[in-house]
This record gives sequence, C-alpha cells and structure tokens, in this order.
Amino acid sequence: MSENLPAGVERRAFDGTERLATRGVPVYGEPTDGEWRAWNPNRSKLGAMLELGMETGLEGGETVLYLGAASGTTVSHVADFAGPTYAVEFAARPVRDLLEAAESRDRLFPLLKDARKPETYAHVVESDVDVIVQDVATRGQARVALENRRFLADDGRLLLAVKARSEDVTREPSAVFEDVREELSEGYEILETRGLEAYHADHLGIVARPR
Ligand code: SAM
Repeated sequence: MSENLPAGVERRAFDGTERLATRGVPVYGEPTDGEWRAWNPNRSKLGAMLELGMETGLEGGETVLYLGAASGTTVSHVADFAGPTYAVEFAARPVRDLLEAAESRDRLFPLLKDARKPETYAHVVESDVDVIVQDVATRGQARVALENRRFLADDGRLLLAVKARSEDVTREPSAVFEDVREELSEGYEILETRGLEAYHADHLGIVARPR
C-alpha cells in the first residue's frame, strides 16, 4: 500500500524482509541499511497504521504535534520525514532518551509537558499544525485529543491510537472504542478507523479531521 506512504518513508529490504523505513540515526536498536532505518510496526502504532494502509494524509514535510512521545521510538521516525515536530511527554525518564534522539534531528523539539494541559505549551507550539499524532495510552484519550484540537489547522488531521485497556480494563474493547468515537465527535469528524490488533492488541487507529 505504498501509495499511502509520505515522502521520506519507503519500503526497503532488511535481511530479505521488506519493511517500512525512514532516513535517520537509529534510536531503538532497529536494523539499518546505510542511512535507512527500519520502522517496526510492532513498536509503533503510527507505523502499524501506515503498514495497514490507512489514509493518514501524511505527505512528508508537515508540522506535527506528537502527544505521548515516550523515549522517541515513533516520533524519531516522524521527525525523519516531517517538518517541525513537537514531541510532548510528561514522564521525565523517557524524555532523557527523547532528548538523545533529538540531538541528530534538528526538527524534533521535545517538551516535558502534560498533554492534558495544552496551555502549558501553547507558547511554544505553533498554531495550525498539520497533524496531531496521539499515543498517550492513558484514561481520557478522547479528551486529550479534544483539548489539543486548538493547535490543529482547519484542514489538518488527527492520527490517534486508542488503547482500550487504558480507559477501562474491565470493559469490552469494542464498547470502549464506541465511547471514544462518540466523545471525539464533539470536535472531530472521523474519517477512518482500523483495529491495530495485527500489531497491537486492543488498539484502534483513528484518522479524523477537525469539525
Ligand atoms: N508513542 C510512543 C512511541 O510509539 O514511541 C509510545 C507511547 S506510550 C504507549 C504512552 C506514553 O504517553 C507514555 O510514555 C506516557 O508517559 C505518555 N503519557 C501518558 N499520559 C500523558 C500525558 N497526559 N501527557 C504526556 N504524556 C503522557
């Protein structure tokens, strides 16, 4: 499904297996081939969404607000092909690794911030970002997306990975996903959803645009 891949993301062979890849300094021990580094969809919900052929709207070069950056596994790939990439993570420990990933990436800006408090980084993140990527794996995932909608351009995209168990471990994932979709519709129009279970159990990938 390479037609849905942004410029700067290619399918390349690593040890005889074709895999998604971006060009950049390796971050998490992933296989490399010259300047290219394999993008492991088992470790990246956005990687899984691309691997599954979802229409993310990513073209390469866009401005990105990434919520839940952790130690930089996925956001480092994003910064390899995107434009300015603001990476929000509220846990200090992974941010140390994130800072290391940013050393070789001059378009990657780590922010030690809480994604539930967008006012604390509103002075840093430019408004009208093209894409919000969200993978916070915490309760209230729809609310986080709604609260950060203010940064998104009118024709921008939200690329959201929802982890059912983070909302409620006791409920059926399908019921959790339905609630998230409904809450999200307060501020977004959902364009596509896809179960990511081939790579991530009980996760739903959502592509949406602001209403
Ligand atoms: N997106 C990462 C990747 O693919 O490389 C993995 C993210 S991990 C599943 C979820 C991360 O979200 C954790 O590092 C957690 O600390 C962070 N997180 C959860 N709630 C958050 C919040 N309110 N603000 C910022 N980060 C948050």
